[in-house]
Amino acid sequence: MVIVQRKELTFAERLYLPEIFRGLSITFSKFFEKPITRQYPEEPLPTDEVTRGQPRLVVKDDGNIACVSCGMCEIACPAYAITIDGGETDRQIEREPKRFEIDMLRCILCGFCEEACPKDAIFMSNELELADTTRRGLVYDLEKLKRPKSALQPRIDYVYRINKRWRSKQP
Ligand code: SF4
Ligand code: SF4
Repeated sequence: MVIVQRKELTFAERLYLPEIFRGLSITFSKFFEKPITRQYPEEPLPTDEVTRGQPRLVVKDDGNIACVSCGMCEIACPAYAITIDGGETDRQIEREPKRFEIDMLRCILCGFCEEACPKDAIFMSNELELADTTRRGLVYDLEKLKRPKSALQPRIDYVYRINKRWRSKQP
């Protein structure tokens, strides 16, 4: 049988004082270091054209959306977040969505809709903020999804740059 001789603890050790002072000294030393945390939301996250934020619909310079309600993005969406009801138009494109909704609570920002669209009508924006008080408020309709082409231009240029092997010109 082995008898373990335990060190007799001092009074201070019994009160955990050495550990408390060591912990406090580490805490106080951090007060004087440069902070590495971001003060969100006052300090928003940096974004650029690579940022894959929420998808948005392109509004062309003539004021019409580029979408022809073909449904390719709806089929490609792995989260079943997109719902489109198409309708006829008198314009040359003949069809455009009467209802176009993206459930932002379902959207996983994968970018498949952007890749699937044959009309360059939907692109990932640099918008990352998402907050509302109701679930219905986070189902974005046509009006909430529309963005002028100029607002999405950096992303459009980026997508063309990375896909230049099989896409030669912008519309
Ligand atoms: S980004 Fe992905 S999940 Fe979101 S709507 Fe597009 S395809 Fe669906
Ligand atoms: S794939 Fe493009 S054109 Fe077709 S419905 Fe979606 S956004 Fe509209």
